[in-house]
Amino acid sequence: MNPQALITELRELLGSTQVLTEGDLSSWELDWRKRWRGKALAVVRPGSTAEVSQVVRACARHGATLVPQGGNTGLVGGGVPDASGNQVLLSLARMNRVREVDRANLALTVEAGCVLQSVQQAATDAGLLFPLSLAAEGSCTIGGNLATNAGGTQVLRYGNARELCLGLEVVTADGEIWDGLSGLRKDNTGYDLRDLIIGSEGTLGIITAATLKLFPQPATSITALACCSDLTQCVALLGLAQSQLGAGLTGFEVMNQFSLALVRRHFDQLAQPLPPAPWTVLLEYASADGPVQAHARFESLLETALDQGLIADAALAASLTQSAAMWHLREAIPLAQSEEGLNVKHDIALPVSAIPAFCQRTDAALAKAFPGIRLVNFGHLGDGNLHYNVQCPEGREGLAFLDQHEGTINRIVFDAVQACQGSFSAEHGIGALKRDDLAERKSPVALGMMRAIKQALDPQGRLNPGRLL
Ligand code: FAD
Ligand code: ZN
Repeated sequence: MNPQALITELRELLGSTQVLTEGDLSSWELDWRKRWRGKALAVVRPGSTAEVSQVVRACARHGATLVPQGGNTGLVGGGVPDASGNQVLLSLARMNRVREVDRANLALTVEAGCVLQSVQQAATDAGLLFPLSLAAEGSCTIGGNLATNAGGTQVLRYGNARELCLGLEVVTADGEIWDGLSGLRKDNTGYDLRDLIIGSEGTLGIITAATLKLFPQPATSITALACCSDLTQCVALLGLAQSQLGAGLTGFEVMNQFSLALVRRHFDQLAQPLPPAPWTVLLEYASADGPVQAHARFESLLETALDQGLIADAALAASLTQSAAMWHLREAIPLAQSEEGLNVKHDIALPVSAIPAFCQRTDAALAKAFPGIRLVNFGHLGDGNLHYNVQCPEGREGLAFLDQHEGTINRIVFDAVQACQGSFSAEHGIGALKRDDLAERKSPVALGMMRAIKQALDPQGRLNPGRLL
């Protein structure tokens, strides 16, 4: 490869201001957790699908590999270049236009670099709802959400990013443009290429635009917090809420006591309406009914839960501001733990029914192996997805602890997950962080099929090499 010739060609294609090679490039080269710092040959910022295609073709001609990047909020080191200085970082951030709103078809077409919050706003402006929601929504992009099949807090009712996508526009590894931007809800014309690209973490194609599903806005939304004494009660409360609220239950998040203690320590300006409890649950109910009827139904749920001894206390948001404050508490946990120092992150999925016993056993095994460790356990219990994070003992240095013990801790946690038929990556993906775990834990047959797909769609290994597979 002649790097200088490639850079010159890229500058001719995009203009020199959109091909960066000097100065502080850390917002592209360093990941959100500050765990991976790479070195890009160049940061390239195309403004259109045609330009993405030209960049891919130029890289192919010069034998360079590409790392696609959206908002750089990914948590598994998949969106930053490696340290070789040979990879082209392809930022989709400038491709942030809303192309079309189709109200009758309940569909919205946006470019890949649209920030999730802007996508939500475009839906709201049309009087509709785009329900994908996560704490990074002010920075992550819809392209990144689809590339990682992001989950978030509304999966219980609306599904993962995959379920919210009707069609994609993709630039292939050899620079061709596939226009799959259909707004169809039914299309059985062969292999589902859309679903193949979703969740492929930039290794099979570059997403340049997407057609997304919209929903009617609920007439009433209600948020509440409730205290439970253990996870068995949380699971029982989930069952009760599902039976009483049906599909209206849109969010069911749990936070262990230490998660909220970290929020209190690092963000003491955030009010916590309930006293500390072993578990605090955040429930959200969205209803087509008006406020009086919806509140009556929700309050009846809380009364039943109190009567049955499933919850000890509850607080109902009385306004949109209070509801936002409750969500803010939940969303502050990832930030509070990063203020506390690096920890060993796990993003695991289990059958909901297996969660109480899993935690009891795994908490005990970890406490025995590493006396004093602190568990930041929180997440989307309604989807069986926990962020089961292990923080070093008080007073120890996070990075040193992580360097020394991450492998052993992962083994304890992932073996326990596997024993419950769970997944060691529920919503964050594989990236660089869990590549070895995938190779070790995915069935050889599944891995063989995955490698065959990669070989068919990217035979030269140009797209995000060293990630996922
Ligand atoms: P990036 O970080 O830029 O990239 C992520 C991956 O996608 C990389 O492999 C990259 O190569 C690839 N990629 C990006 N754009 C494209 C594209 N256009 N075409 C092809 N490949 C592409 N995730 C959840 O699922 N649920 C959560 O609740 C959640 N909460 C979070 C909270 C915080 C505070 C943070 C920092 C992260 C959270 N995440 C969560 C993880 C992260 O936000 C999501 O994975 C998000 O979807 C990544 O989007 P991004 O635009 O930042 O992608
Ligand atoms: Zn999450």
